[in-house]
Formats: sequence, structure tokens, C-alpha cells
Amino acid sequence: MSYTDASAEDIDIVMQQAWKAFHSYRKCSLKQRADFMRAIAKELEACGDELIQVAMNETNLPEARMRGERARTIFQLNSYAEACEKGTWLEARIDTAIPDKVPPKPDIRKILIPLGPVVVFGASNFPFAYSTAGGDTACAFAAGCSVIVKAHAAHAQTSEMVANAILKAAKDSNMPDGIFAHVHGAGNETGKALVTHPHTKAVGFTGSYLGGKQLFDWGNQRKEPIPVFAEMGSVNPVFLFPEKLKQSAADVAKLYAGSITLGVGQFCTNPGLIIGVESEGLQTFIDTLGEEIKKINPGTMLHSGIFKSYVEKRATALSQEGVDTVAVAETAPQLNQGAPTIATAKGEAFLNNPVLHQEVFGPYSIVIRCKDATEMLAVVHNLEGQLTATLMATDNDINYHEEIIEAVKNICGRFILNNVPTGVEVCLSMHHGGPFPSTTDSRFTSVGADGIKRFARPISFQNWSNEFLPAELKNENPLGIWRTVDNELTKS
Ligand code: NAP
Repeated sequence: MSYTDASAEDIDIVMQQAWKAFHSYRKCSLKQRADFMRAIAKELEACGDELIQVAMNETNLPEARMRGERARTIFQLNSYAEACEKGTWLEARIDTAIPDKVPPKPDIRKILIPLGPVVVFGASNFPFAYSTAGGDTACAFAAGCSVIVKAHAAHAQTSEMVANAILKAAKDSNMPDGIFAHVHGAGNETGKALVTHPHTKAVGFTGSYLGGKQLFDWGNQRKEPIPVFAEMGSVNPVFLFPEKLKQSAADVAKLYAGSITLGVGQFCTNPGLIIGVESEGLQTFIDTLGEEIKKINPGTMLHSGIFKSYVEKRATALSQEGVDTVAVAETAPQLNQGAPTIATAKGEAFLNNPVLHQEVFGPYSIVIRCKDATEMLAVVHNLEGQLTATLMATDNDINYHEEIIEAVKNICGRFILNNVPTGVEVCLSMHHGGPFPSTTDSRFTSVGADGIKRFARPISFQNWSNEFLPAELKNENPLGIWRTVDNELTKS
């Protein structure tokens, strides 16, 4: 099925409508916003098996994954709706007046209010959870923003079906026309027109470094710069410590063979870099990982472009000086299938070659063999910002390697101990974001209800009478939300 690309005129019309709708929607209560989000969740469910089938056809992802991802998307909508209503994300602060202070202290109250229309770029690797009705869209609606989604061309029909579900929910919930819009557009012009339109006030993106950085630059070069929350590449380093390897090198290798190849390696949290110090344990780990990888079948990748990029980037990495191939899946890949692959190199080769630091998006990982802990520390200092970093370590390992561990903490958004980085739980304490270049703003998460704050800004009300204050800040706290009143967190 083919869709018409939006012209510059189409985008201007959509943005004018989104701007108008925003001014109406921002006045909706938290409950109205939450009910709208729950209505979208219901419509997604009502799309039934047909939506799953279309998504499977477009993405090559298996049925179980598609069903699970839709359930996750529904959970996101419902749980962010609940968070929206609870209002904790508003960060309401009230400092009551002290008239007899010299000079007198006025009454000041602060909350977060919505930014304006948000442009969301659907991600190729999450057709539901990080696309049309995904995390960015849910967060923007919760914040009180209208949303314009640019469909990812790799799952345009899925995106269209989900967009229709959102539009139906909007109509049934009496939302203003223009609260949501869905556009198609191959090539970069559509994205550029959306990001640079004067009515766009923020952008959410998940995808490549090149794409995310370009959108970020356009957002910043505007006459009125806007925040572009781009989640981009990450190699998610895993550090293997000596005692842990001595105790369970083979088990760790088996665990990681599964994580590296999960979803044909097409996750932003895929462990693409594994680092240890030369030892018998590390050799056992490499040998076992190689044996496991050989047994795992190649899988069809999301689209031919991602497959091509995998083949090219893998070939580039494997051809670098000092890089050896440990293992490749024994079953020959069919059309557009990514073959699981493990490489290895010495610490010195890694330190001297930035090509080895780059993400190879797919079922690939490289094991770096450091000569000692000092070289491992040098490797950490050479790494760029990451979404996640993982330690495979015993308590003794942790006690003996404080400097390395502190250095790793400094470069990641999620710090994992004795687990795998794949699998991002949707909950309030999740941080899915990390220092540049893994994202463009490490202070914010794109998973969990704290992601709502990306699309809101603080405003202080000074000296306003109770009658005219927003409900969230009124003396009697009619919404029953948590607020910090005169420096104490309270619902009273
Ligand atoms: P992508 O190329 O970054 O594209 C994602 C979206 O952004 C598409 O809608 C694309 O529109 C738009 N876009 C990209 N570059 C743009 C630009 N310069 N100007 C305007 N719009 C732009 O990502 P992809 O298609 O999903 O996959 C390509 C590669 O991205 C993968 O091989 C992988 O390396 C990486 N990737 C990383 C992650 C991650 O989570 N880290 C996730 C997915 C993909 P157009 O289609 O119109 O260009």
C-alpha cells in the first residue's frame, strides 16, 4: 500500500490545526487527558488481529513479539494516564506569603505546563511502543500537547491503522480537531518541514545518530530554538570482572548469547561491546559465547535498509586491524537475514580505533581483551555516552574496582549489575536516556511516566488569589495531588 507524501502546504495546514487544538486541549483537566489516553488504549486493543498481522508483514517481527509490544503500548498509555491524573509529574510547589518579612515575601506557586504541538518520528524497531501511539505520543498527550506523527516508511500501514485508532478515540472523547495528525513522507524534506515549522514546540525521535543529530541541529538553528529529544545509538558496554568470570564464565556467555541476538539484535539496548581483562575465565567466556552464537539461526531484519546497514557496518568492523572473528551463525542467512556474529580485539586496538566504538545495529558484539585493569579503565575513559552500562561482578569485584565502576557510572543512563541491558521495564524509576551521543538530553527519559516532563515547562504564579489559580495550585488542593508546600511534601 502506498501513501501520499505530505507537501509543505499540507504540513502547514496540519501545524495550524495542531496549534489551534493545543490551545483548547491545554485547558482540559488531567482527568480528561487521562480518559482520552485510555480511550486510545481501548481502540488499539479493538484493532484486533488485523493490526498484528499487518505489523508482522511490514516488520518481519514474529507474532508473539507484536502481541507483546501492543500490550506494552496499551500499558504505557494506561499507566501514563494514571500518572497524568496523579499529577506528581507537575512538580507542584507552593511557597506561601510572609507579609511581615522585610521586604515582604509574596505568595509563589509553580507547576509544569505543556509546551505546544509535539512532532513524533516513529521508530523502525518498535512499530507500536515507540511509534504512532507509543511512549512519546502518550507523554505528549499527558503533558497537554497536541501531536503530529511522521510515520516510519518501514511500517506505514501499521502506522496508518494506529493513527485511525487515535483519531477515533479523539472523536469519541470530544477532543478538539487537530489534537492528532499523521503524515507520511519519504526523504528528509517532510521531517525538516515539521521540525522547522514555527508552531512545532518540541520533537521526539528514536533512530539513528545521523537522523537524530540532524533533527536536533534543525531544532536548534530555528529562529526560536526548540528541544529535540532524540534517542540515538548506544553500544551498551558490558564489563566482565575477574572473580565473576572465574565463578561463572560459561553461564554469563550463555546469558549474553541470548541478549545479543534477541530480536535479531535490533534493540537500542543491545550489548554491542563486552570488555574484560585477559584471563582463563575471559577465554572460557569467549569460547562459550562463540559456540552459542554458532547455534543461533539468522533472523530477518526489519527492512532491507537496516539489513544492508548491518552487513556494511559489520564488514567494516571485522576488517579493522587487530579484529578477529570469533564466530558466525552456522546456518547460512536467507534474504535480509542478519547472521549472529562475535568478534574480538585487544584493548590497545580498541583504544586506537574509533571505528570499533560505533554501533553495529544487529546481532553483533565485540569482546575487548584488556591486558590489565589499568587498560580497562582507559577503555572506559575512551567511551562516549551510553543508554546503559552493565557490570558482571561479584561483591569482591565491586570492592576492588571502585575507580573503574565510578568511571562507568559517569557515562551511562541505566547502570546494571549482573543482568542484561535488553528489556526496558516501563515504570517510574526507569531511566531510558544517557549522555550524548546516546541521546540529545541526558536529563530526560523516554520510558516511564517521567518522560511526560520532556513536553512541559515550569511556570511560577506570583501573588495570585486562590480564585484565579489553576486547580493544581489552589489552597484546598481539589485534585488531591502531592505538592511541596513550604518545603514539605504533602497532599494537604
Ligand atoms: P533513521 O534513519 O534514523 O530514521 C528514523 C526516522 O527519522 C524516519 O522517519 C526518517 O525519515 C527520519 N529521518 C532520519 N534521518 C533524517 C534526516 N536527516 N532528516 C529528516 N528526517 C530524518 O532510522 P531507521 O530507518 O529506523 O534505521 C536506520 C538505522 O538507524 C539503523 O540501521 C540503525 O543503525 C539505527 N537505529 C537505531 C535505533 C536505536 O534505538 N538506537 C533504532 C532504530 C534504528 P525518512 O525515512 O524519511 O528518512
